[in-house]
Amino acid sequence: MNAASETDSSRRWTLDCGMRYWPSGHEAVARLPFPIVDADPGAEPALHHIALPDWAADLGVDGRLLVFASTLSPVEGKPDWQCCDWIANAFYMLAGSPERAHERLHGPILSYSFRLPRTLDPLYQHAWVNRSFLFLRRWAAREAGLSEEAVFGPLPRAQILLTHDVDAIRLTPEIRFKQTAFQLTNAARATARGDGSLIRARLRDARRYAFSSGDFRTFGRVRDMERSAGIRSTLHFYGGRAGLGRRSPRRILIDPAYNIGSEMMRRELRAFAEGDWTIGLHQSFDAWEEADTMLIEKARLERALGGMVRHCRQHWLHFSWARTWAAQAAAGLELDSTLGFNDRPGFRAGHALTIRPWDEAAGKPLAIDAIPMVFMDSHFYDYSSGEDADPETAMRHWIKEVQAVGGEITVNWHTHTITDVYGWEAGFESLLGLLS
Ligand SMILES: [Zn+2]
Repeated sequence: MNAASETDSSRRWTLDCGMRYWPSGHEAVARLPFPIVDADPGAEPALHHIALPDWAADLGVDGRLLVFASTLSPVEGKPDWQCCDWIANAFYMLAGSPERAHERLHGPILSYSFRLPRTLDPLYQHAWVNRSFLFLRRWAAREAGLSEEAVFGPLPRAQILLTHDVDAIRLTPEIRFKQTAFQLTNAARATARGDGSLIRARLRDARRYAFSSGDFRTFGRVRDMERSAGIRSTLHFYGGRAGLGRRSPRRILIDPAYNIGSEMMRRELRAFAEGDWTIGLHQSFDAWEEADTMLIEKARLERALGGMVRHCRQHWLHFSWARTWAAQAAAGLELDSTLGFNDRPGFRAGHALTIRPWDEAAGKPLAIDAIPMVFMDSHFYDYSSGEDADPETAMRHWIKEVQAVGGEITVNWHTHTITDVYGWEAGFESLLGLLS
């Protein structure tokens, strides 16, 4: 946000991202009397909590909102909420500026939050951008001497979209190896902490992955469970190469192994499409910056489906702020839900909104929509320390935040985990209960 014209367009984009809070226009919000304090927060931003005035305290968390300190210009005798550039602050969150700065220095983080500065953790806890938009909405209505509803219309309802990444249809030797090794690592970590019951639980997990035989074709069961809950999810399928023949060992270990063109998979795709489920693409690990590879995988899935594919999520959440959305847009994809972490739930960019991501190089939005993924099954099992709340309580916390702000998110449950080998079916059942 340097040149004046870019500032204008980035500020307009920021307000456009909040369109669900001011569908009839954002002029009243743009006119609010707060200063323009436009300082990029950098890769390790200082965070600051601003106390809201009494008439908006309910929109904060304990009456406060989190902002980047760089967007605040304190004035003696004035409350902080009048001294923050709320639009610049929302811009830097929506554009993922701290992570972009980190990516420029160190490369993509493979969506592991532990690679980012710990000081960013409070950013992921709440939908801060949504909360500050709600604050601006109320403030603008007060300035106009009218009700919020009269100025901006009713508050939006939360949209929580259930999605599935289809990573496996059987327990392959690769998954057996990966999961056994992963659980042994977890057991070693628990040993370091001296947590006896967690060590035993992780060793039990490791044994189960090492020795179970497994059929992971749970599609019919997913359809039945979701039909009973009145839900139609989106399923992301892999369209890359299958089998052992034409793939490098690394790709064999990391990517899904099934062949989307097989008669069995085509039958399943048809059953989903005919029942009103949405089919999306789950790009291979190496496709994270390659529009050409995405196009090939998308075409293979579309041939198997007999229809167009518009939605996507990158396998392993292999993602770059600078490259992935641009490549997806170039491949003709229309909605991505990769923005989330592998190792923890949370709002990766402090918001729960579907937005057209900001293209930093071009100084304008990209031609694709992006919606965050706030949690997935493995957060509450593989990455749970054992002291955490049970999956249902943990999921309810995130869902309540999105409902409180009328936000939009996706959540992700892998179809192969509702099997006895993983044993996460009860968690999926709870999720359906929370969403229906
Ligand atoms: Zn995947």
